[in-house]
This record gives sequence, structure tokens and C-alpha cells, in this order.
Amino acid sequence: ASDFGIYDALKVLGIKEINEGSSTGTNNFSSGETIASFSPVDGSLIAKVKTTTKEDYEQVMGTATAAYKEWRTKPAPQRGEIVRQFGDKLRELKEPLGKLVSYEMGKSYQEGLGEVQEMIDICDFAVGLSRQLHGLTMHSERPGHRMYEQYHPLGVVGIISAFNFPVAVWAWNTALAWICGDVCIWKPSEKTPLCGIACQHIAATVFKENNLPEGISCLINGDYTVGELMTGDARIPLVSATGSIRMGKIVAQAVAARLGKSLLELGGNNAIIVTPDADIKMTVIGAVFGAVGTAGQRCTSTRRLIIHESMYDKVKNAIVAAYNQLRIGNPLDENNHVGPLIDTDAVLQYNKALQQVVNEGGNLIVEGGVLEEQGYESGCYVRPAIAEAENHFKIVQHETFAPVLYLIKYSGDVENAIAIQNGVLQGLSSAIMTNNLREAEQFLSAWGSDCGIANVNIGTSGAEIGGAFGGEKETGGGRESGSDAWKVYMRRQTNTINYTTELPLAQGIKFDL
Ligand code: NAD
Repeated sequence: ASDFGIYDALKVLGIKEINEGSSTGTNNFSSGETIASFSPVDGSLIAKVKTTTKEDYEQVMGTATAAYKEWRTKPAPQRGEIVRQFGDKLRELKEPLGKLVSYEMGKSYQEGLGEVQEMIDICDFAVGLSRQLHGLTMHSERPGHRMYEQYHPLGVVGIISAFNFPVAVWAWNTALAWICGDVCIWKPSEKTPLCGIACQHIAATVFKENNLPEGISCLINGDYTVGELMTGDARIPLVSATGSIRMGKIVAQAVAARLGKSLLELGGNNAIIVTPDADIKMTVIGAVFGAVGTAGQRCTSTRRLIIHESMYDKVKNAIVAAYNQLRIGNPLDENNHVGPLIDTDAVLQYNKALQQVVNEGGNLIVEGGVLEEQGYESGCYVRPAIAEAENHFKIVQHETFAPVLYLIKYSGDVENAIAIQNGVLQGLSSAIMTNNLREAEQFLSAWGSDCGIANVNIGTSGAEIGGAFGGEKETGGGRESGSDAWKVYMRRQTNTINYTTELPLAQGIKFDL
């Protein structure tokens, strides 16, 4: 591992052999058991993390609550200035942080850097937004009255994140929450705790340099039981949770039981429709990158290709040929296209999916398999697979978080393809490849794709921070990042001011004393 300069990167990021996993900035409260973080790249133990107990959590919550009282009084543009400085620190530390993301999670170094770039982009977006937290002014129906709305911070926001975007998802949430005047407690995935610690160190430096209180950025670590401390806690008005649908259903119920708000970013089952008017070259690039990029571990990864029967063989052959060119191996080596899965449990799920698709009558046209030779000692490297399948297969209806692509044939008009595309329980990302304006517009219409993201002539995976990100149905309905996603981190207040000496009531009601 030393070949990649990973140990230098860890040093710069302040990662030690054993790290405190609960922190409010410079103060640490960690008395829980120790968990280890192994790299899926080469199976090495990177470092250990002390997890958060209930008592530690109470300390963190107390500090966060006190910090909120001060932070909410700062004018939003001043909060934006802090986020600007945080973005600058990320620019300085982009390479070591990108390297840690790549080594701890297993995505390519380019994607690791890309993730840190997303953090920088959302900081820039948040800085501008800190001067634009606009409310409307309405005309009152009563004479001499003014009515308007304003947005106030919510309080302590809880962030629960998944392993596959171990740093960006936190930044999407926290950069906006901070400029909105909230303070945040983050529980990263127990599979990528060191990424969380590195980010917390960077944030803590910025808050300290500005003499701001401990607790504006807080970190807790551990598995779902630590997440549950937040979902059941009425002191947390908003829980933003990213992860599996299984997790989302539990979190949503726990938060709803106390009438809190949850922002859910859950699994997808994303499809590209390939119509008779598709550009084949673009389709192949979009589909192959979408299916095998990040080893199929993006929430927006392409899972299904819905291909018109007239194009089917041509597209299938081109994609199989592209799969034969894929180089699988160490993701820190930029010559490789596909890195490892997160752990051997994920490899098990991948194997199960391949078995199940065959059991249900599917036809594996690129067989896949687990790699065991030299260079693959971590046991986490698999070959991307392709199966011809039908949309109603149970396994096709399910999100397998691995590089397994299903080819589905459609005939007739594009409505048939849209019906297949919408015929799953998830609704995150979708795409159509076509040069036909009518097909593209139908796909984007009210009776078109039912997903939160619908693209024309680009694949399903990846998104820019300027747009609101999220999906419908079992994907959870939440929206993060750009557009007006900031509103979920604030509470709206309607204000009416009477500047007369009378007290007229609304709706003309008379109440004479
Ligand atoms: P996961 O659901 O196993 O874990 C996600 C996080 O939730 C972890 O931090 C985990 O500790 C926590 N958690 C699990 N159960 C919990 C509970 N009952 N209470 C509180 N916290 C709990 O997901 P994962 O394997 O880390 O990530 C992969 C999944 O995430 C995929 O389904 C993927 O599609 C999804 N994802 C979605 C988006 C999106 O924006 N829609 C983005 C990234 C990943």
C-alpha cells in the first residue's frame, strides 16, 4: 500500500493507529468498543476507531445544542464565509482525502478526487446561497398589514451516510445545513469510518481558526445502533439518511414516530432505454460506465438496459465487446477500470444475484465471477456480469449493489419501454438514448419516467451538485444538494405585521367587545 503514498496521506489527514470516533471538533468523547477499517483494495488493516456509546452521544449532543445557540445568531453570509474557508481547506487537501476515499472505499483514485471535488462544489454553491435564503412577501387582505415569510434554522441536524460516497454525501448535507444556521451530527458508515474522521478534522480546524464554538460539526461512529440514538432523539428535528431501502424504512418509522422530519436518499434500480434512434457509441459508453463504474456501487449505477428489439443484437454485441476490454484491479492504478467491492459480504450478494437470475430463467451472457489470482488477495474483486433477463424477475426488481447488468428487450413504441422502466419499486435515476424528439419528450413528460432524475443522451450515473438530487417511490422522496433543496434544513415562518391602530380580523370576521 505504501506505493500509493497512502501512509503520507493518512498522516496529513491526522489518521492515527487508533482514532477517537466521537468528536465535537477538538474535543473527543469515545469510550465505546473499537472497530477496524480494512481496505478492500488489498485487505490491509488501515486503522481502528473507537465507537460512540450512549454516554458519549449525550456529551456530543450537549455540545452541539450549546453551539447551535451561538451559530444561529451569526448572519447567514458570515456562516457562508466559514463554508468558503472549509471549501478552500478541501482544495488544499484534495489529493490526500481523495486517496483515503479510494483506499478505504475501493473506488478509483479519479473518483476519489471527483468526490472531494463535489464537496468543494457544494461549498461554493452554499456560499452563494448564504445570501439567497429568500422568503416571499405576500399582500395581506387587511389594510395596513404586511405579510411575509422567513426561513429560520432547524437546530441539530442528524446525518447518516452510506459507504459508497463516504465524504460527498456528508458535504451535500452539512454545507447547506451550516449556512442555514444548523449544527450537524454525522454518523458515517461503519465501513468507512476513517473518511469521517478525516473530514471532521478538516472542519474542526476551520471552526477553531475562526474561534467558533465546539459542536457545529460533530461526529459519532459505529453501526446502526449508534444511528438509532439519533433517529429516536426528539432533539434532532431532521434526520438525513442515505443508504439502503431496508434502512430507510426503519429510519422513516422511527423518526415519524416522534413526528420528526426525515430526508431519505435510498436505493435505485436505474435503467437506460435504448430506442431505434439511439446513437450506439454514446449508448455503449453511457451503459458500460454506468454499470461498472465504482464496481456498480453507485446509487445511480445502471442496473437495466431496456433495448428496442430492432437494436438488440447490435447493442448487446457492442456492450459485450466493451466488457471484454475491462481491466479489473487496484483502483489506485489509473489503468484499471473496475476496482473491488466494499467487502466479502458484498461479493456474497453478487454471487447470489448471479445464481438467482439463472434460477429465474435468465441467461448470463457475460458470466462474471470472483477473482482470486495475485493482486486480488482482499477477496473483494469480481468480474462485471451481464444477464439477459425479464423485468418481472424478483432479482431484477431488487437492487444488487454490484456490477450486474440486466438486458431487457422491448418492442413497439417508447411507451412500452417507459412502462418497463417504471415497473420497479425504486425511482432514482433514468435515461433514454434517442435522437428522436418525440421519444425524448414523452420520456420527460408527466406520463414518462417516474424517477427523480431523468436524462436524455447521458447515462444514469453521476449528477451535478446544481440540481436537486434524489428519487421517488422506495428511493425515499428526499432531495439534496442544489436547486431549492436547502429549504428542508430550515423552518418556514409566516409573519403578519399590523401597522394601524385597528385590529381587523381576517376573512372579515367581526368580534366587537
Ligand atoms: P446501509 O443501509 O447498510 O447503511 C447506510 C447507513 O445507515 C450506515 O451508516 C448504517 O450504519 C446506517 N443504518 C443502518 N440501519 C440503520 C438503522 N436502523 N438506524 C439508523 N441507522 C442505520 O447502506 P450501505 O450499504 O452503506 O449503502 C448502499 C446503499 O445506499 C444502496 O442501497 C445505495 O443505493 C444507497 N445509496 C443511496 C444514495 C442516494 O442518494 N439515493 C446515495 C448513496 C447510496
